[in-house]
Amino acid sequence: MSDCLFCAIVQGDIPADIILRTDRVIAFRDIEPKAPVHVLVIPVDHHPDVPSAALADPALGAELLQAAAHVAAAEGVAQSGYRVVANTGSDGGQSVHHAHLHVLGGRGLTWPPG
Ligand code: AMP
Repeated sequence: MSDCLFCAIVQGDIPADIILRTDRVIAFRDIEPKAPVHVLVIPVDHHPDVPSAALADPALGAELLQAAAHVAAAEGVAQSGYRVVANTGSDGGQSVHHAHLHVLGGRGLTWPPG
């Protein structure tokens, strides 16, 4: 999709610190990390948000969550715990309208997040 930041990262037009890539999903470090581990997991194909992606392609929804689990293991937070977040829409605090999961960990995370 034109004018989509994360599509540009998928295409390699904008650099990113990519730590996992499959045919359908990539994961890269958030440019403004909110925790010691802060990785974004996104579908290669453009979907506006994670619930929409899962409705359009249920297998893709599962692949995004599986990738989040792989990222957590690779980043060493699977045992200590981590948070998977899908900000969705305006009130959900979503700023980039290409589906993405945040994988956050490496410190104690408060709830609610604010
Ligand atoms: P959200 O607010 O849930 O839409 O999350 C978007 C996330 O994308 C924010 O945490 C940003 O810090 C992150 N972000 C924005 N631009 C980039 C970029 N070029 N590379 C990596 N992460 C980015």
